[in-house]
Amino acid sequence: MSTPLLPNHLGGRWQTGGGAGTPLFDPVLGTELARVSSQGLDLKEGFRFAREQGGKALRALTYKERAALLQAVAQVLQKNRDAYYEIATANSGTTVKDSAVDIDGAIYTIGVYAKQGEALGDARVLLDGERIRMGKDPLFQTQHILTPTQGVALFINAFNFPSWGLWEKAAPALLSGVPVIVKPATATAWLTQRMVQDVVDAGILPAGALSVVCGSSAGLMDALEPFDVVSFTGSAETARIIRSHPAVAERSVRCNIEADSLNTALLDPQAAADSEAFQLLVNEVAREMTVKAGQKCTAIRRVMVPRALYDAAAQAIGAKLAKVTVGNPRNESVRMGALVSREQHASVLEGIARLRAEAEVLHDGASHALVDADPAVAACVGPTLLGTRTPASAKVLHEVEVFGPVATLMAYDSIEEAYELIRRGEGSLVVSVYSADPAFIAQAAAELGSSHGRVHAISPDVASLHTGHGNVMPQSLHGGPGRAGGGEELGGLRALNFYHRRSAVQASSAALDQLASQAALLKY
Ligand code: NAP
Repeated sequence: MSTPLLPNHLGGRWQTGGGAGTPLFDPVLGTELARVSSQGLDLKEGFRFAREQGGKALRALTYKERAALLQAVAQVLQKNRDAYYEIATANSGTTVKDSAVDIDGAIYTIGVYAKQGEALGDARVLLDGERIRMGKDPLFQTQHILTPTQGVALFINAFNFPSWGLWEKAAPALLSGVPVIVKPATATAWLTQRMVQDVVDAGILPAGALSVVCGSSAGLMDALEPFDVVSFTGSAETARIIRSHPAVAERSVRCNIEADSLNTALLDPQAAADSEAFQLLVNEVAREMTVKAGQKCTAIRRVMVPRALYDAAAQAIGAKLAKVTVGNPRNESVRMGALVSREQHASVLEGIARLRAEAEVLHDGASHALVDADPAVAACVGPTLLGTRTPASAKVLHEVEVFGPVATLMAYDSIEEAYELIRRGEGSLVVSVYSADPAFIAQAAAELGSSHGRVHAISPDVASLHTGHGNVMPQSLHGGPGRAGGGEELGGLRALNFYHRRSAVQASSAALDQLASQAALLKY
């Protein structure tokens, strides 16, 4: 018997795509779960409906009213949380702890935006900075303002965060008054589709404010118009296609890209093998490699340690990885579940083989016997630590992101060399620095800031407080330059910039007073 075809929500109604659809699988058991299809949908009409109906209704509300909608969305998701955990186990192959990063992380993020949005009050326009004089007479001045773009926000998402990937973007978009159309990655589309279904069925949002298109992406970019925005998360190859599409290249659709990233963990050159900084690095690297089976865009891929500590670090990280049980997430003894598909399984094994051409194996993932899972069927791989004592002569190790539980340890001789090696990643989402010395941390932050979206410093005094190298917090910026895509998301109310247009209003003080009376000052 064939599995159900998940309906799309577009044009304010539920619509089933044509044809047999593309199957979604349980990556551990190999069983088919559901199918998706976007075949035959009238995308242009659906986008027009969202723009005209959804956008208009959202913009009629104040920031505070839209913040209340977000709060109501969070409550619906909270109520249906158990179902989401079941879907995540089945379709993403994640353990309960790893599903929480995606599901509870999303609910938390919506809550943060609901709170920040409420503080913007009854305004419908934002003031960007103070008035600026242009001449001697203060009567005629400039005020920069932000107004919601009168288009849709299209999200083309990656497979690794079907829940958080939607809501970390949808929360600031909806708060801004911009309707959302999400196209989840096919492999794990079920959770995104189900969450949209629950929110739409709860009748919280105006018609056209939230749409979901599952299945092929064909035609989505063609439906974009100049005031729309597109946010893409995925591989560098697809990012290239998005960037060069006429919607972006010719119609100036604003585009945010989050792509590959070779994030780094850096140990202070002064750290000793028995120091707390060393132990904190070891713990964080082992954790980051194994959370969500390493399928986090922010996961640590390169680990830089002083040459004298290379062997000690290899031994300590390897010992932690050896204890990680891998297999069926339904078995409570399992700490690390599956990759999202057999395709990803093949891609990770192929990636490890490529890295091995330039690295030695310090801990072999193949040594992990799977728990409750058939190696011929399950998309499970054990955590693999590679290493090189000559990272300067490596090429692939600084260029290839293996999207699984894999990292490479690298020995450095001087801090200048370490900075240089880190920058060989050509722009990353996050670097973490492990040190007990505030002066070193400050120096590293200033040195590495320009090539990273986030610098996460772990010192002994914040050992029990820090939020984790790979955890993306809504208060902090997410995104990175260069290879990482050049995008910016989150960062509190900074996220609203993407969904608003900035204009300069040059007018008399009386007119600017009038404008200010309807507006809120955007403070970061
Ligand atoms: P992908 O193959 O590029 O797919 C990403 C999304 O693009 C999917 O929804 C996919 O749909 C869609 N897509 C594929 N071809 C398209 C086209 N021609 N036009 C428009 N959309 C198209 O990437 P992935 O393999 O799912 O994701 C893994 C990668 O994402 C990793 O490299 C990881 O680094 C990156 N990532 C980055 C971040 C970040 O924040 N920087 C976060 C998560 C993941 P289908 O699924 O239907 O093909």
